[in-house]
Order: sequence, then structure tokens, then C-alpha cells
Amino acid sequence: MRIALIAHDKKKDDMIQFATAYKFILEKHELYATGTTGAKIMEATGLSINRFQSGPLGGDQQIGAYIAENKMDVIIFLRDPLTAQPHEPDVSALMRLCDVYGVPLATNMGTAEIVIRGLESGLLDWRAK
Ligand code: PGA
Repeated sequence: MRIALIAHDKKKDDMIQFATAYKFILEKHELYATGTTGAKIMEATGLSINRFQSGPLGGDQQIGAYIAENKMDVIIFLRDPLTAQPHEPDVSALMRLCDVYGVPLATNMGTAEIVIRGLESGLLDWRAK
């Protein structure tokens, strides 16, 4: 399964905790991330991640393009709802494309936990078909 990991700055520590806790699941999949998120996860966990541009420099749009091309199966996007983002239009566009194509999108830790456990138990295998 192709999984994209994105975290806004104030959520990067949460993402590292998440990736560390679920490394045993994530390592079985093809991982992608925006630039800084990917670098931090790789450094903390040793996971191998394909990195796009940093989010504010177009990384969210690159992931959106993958969604439109049916090249991404799950998005874990830990958003910071309390800080204005310069690339808010890109964030909205990415979420919109997930809805257009029916791609599972977790935008907070509570949902991310459910999605990763669903991934592990095969609930998302329909994505691979
Ligand atoms: P970053 O981008 O991983 O490069 O920080 C994430 C974002 O802010 O969308």
C-alpha cells in the first residue's frame, strides 16, 4: 500500500511518535512524505521514505497529483488547526482530492490510529485492488 505522511510543524513530534509506535506496520508499505516530515521520520525511525517537496513549497500538491493518478492509497495528515498556514489552499486541495477519489484520509491522531490498525488488519485491502 502506498501511504503518504504529512505533519504540520506543531504536529511533527506527534507524527514521529506515531511512526515510531507503528513502524512495524509502516515498514511493510511504500512510504511517501512531504520534505521535512519525511526527513524527521527517517531520522527518528530509520524507515525508508520517498520525499516530496516541503509542504509550503508544493509537497502537498505533489501528493495531490499522485492521488489524481491513483498512485496513493492512504493519507495520514496531522494538521495543525490552530495555526494559519501559508499554503492553506494546497492543504484544502489535497483534502478535496482525497474526497474526489475516495482515498482514506486521517487528519488527526484519533483517526490515524484507526486507519493504521485498519491497514494492519486488512480493512483497507480494497485499495490495492
Ligand atoms: P513539511 O510539509 O513536511 O515539509 O513540513 C508539511 C506541510 O506543512 O504541509
